[in-house]
Amino acid sequence: MATIIPQQLLRAELENMLAYQVAHTEGLIKLDAMENPYPLPASLRDKWLSTLRKVTLNRYPDPQAKRLKQNFRNTFSISSKLELILGNGSDELIQLLILAIAKPNACILTVTPSFSMYKLIAKFIGVHIIQVPLEVNSFTLRPDHICKAIHENDPALIFLACPNNPTGTLWPREQIEQIVRHATGLVVIDEAYAPFAAYSMMYMAEKYSHVLILRTMSKMGLAGLRLGWLLGSAQWLSEINKLRLPYNVNALTQASVDFALSHISVFNDQVKLICKQREQLIAAMRDIDSIKVFSSESNFILFKTLRISADIIFKRLISHKIMIKNVADKGLLGNCLRVTVGTESENQAFLTALNKSLE
Ligand code: PMP
Repeated sequence: MATIIPQQLLRAELENMLAYQVAHTEGLIKLDAMENPYPLPASLRDKWLSTLRKVTLNRYPDPQAKRLKQNFRNTFSISSKLELILGNGSDELIQLLILAIAKPNACILTVTPSFSMYKLIAKFIGVHIIQVPLEVNSFTLRPDHICKAIHENDPALIFLACPNNPTGTLWPREQIEQIVRHATGLVVIDEAYAPFAAYSMMYMAEKYSHVLILRTMSKMGLAGLRLGWLLGSAQWLSEINKLRLPYNVNALTQASVDFALSHISVFNDQVKLICKQREQLIAAMRDIDSIKVFSSESNFILFKTLRISADIIFKRLISHKIMIKNVADKGLLGNCLRVTVGTESENQAFLTALNKSLE
């Protein structure tokens, strides 16, 4: 029998793609992935474990996650007019949304730079993506350029990360509403970092039936559980829900997030602490004259190296046992690096290493 070769059989896109790469961080201070640096407080651990003891592992989880969804509704005061879909991280929900609109000639619109998964998932599903550049050096939105691109391309789906990753920028609500009013398809406002921001745009889901809000528990302290949620009108979500695999949120995650939501003040306090430390870190970084530091409404800070290349600083930081994210490219992010806000001592270690690396 002749050997069957993958490239002869599989979709052409796969041949030129790489599997998603995650940096090795063993033994390093991990400030690369916008995680909350604080674990579940010891006082809650035992209570959480006793909740897990009751989970029946031999049974499938509730496919509708009814109890957890009700807890989301209560915790975030979600209107009964809106529907919810839970996902295995918000990445899964981004995938469902793109799958839902993936017709021949359909396209997606987002801005650049923004969250890399929009482009990656669009690529592997085979949907064309248009990326409208943000303003050079300030990363502000250019609503007029976006509206023009909407009229020219008629995108079925628009992704706007508010605050944006990797820039940390929170764009004005009026600009987002301007885009929403011009949109000819769905607008997904990705609020992964909203807990760290001055305001949320969640109200827009009620005001406009074609606006969906995407949220995640990852940045608040539960990245390991993989739980994202999508909020919007029943008219849209009931259709998108048809693509969701029945047991996409496992029983341990359902029970753990349910537990976490019932103790949400613990996570809110951690978020407040992270925001305070973010401002301290920004102030300390702004004292360094060989970098430009961008403001942030998120749990990370974008900065640009002015004298030594970002690639070199990134490698030097690793030699000092600090892992951040090298986001430098040939476009608007030239010589840019992104650091996640860590604990006070982690931030201090980063500052010391950064100063040494810039010498
Ligand atoms: N949206 C944005 C803007 C993000 O930065 C991320 C993660 N970095 C996600 C969504 C995905 O988060 P998760 O899959 O962990 O919910």
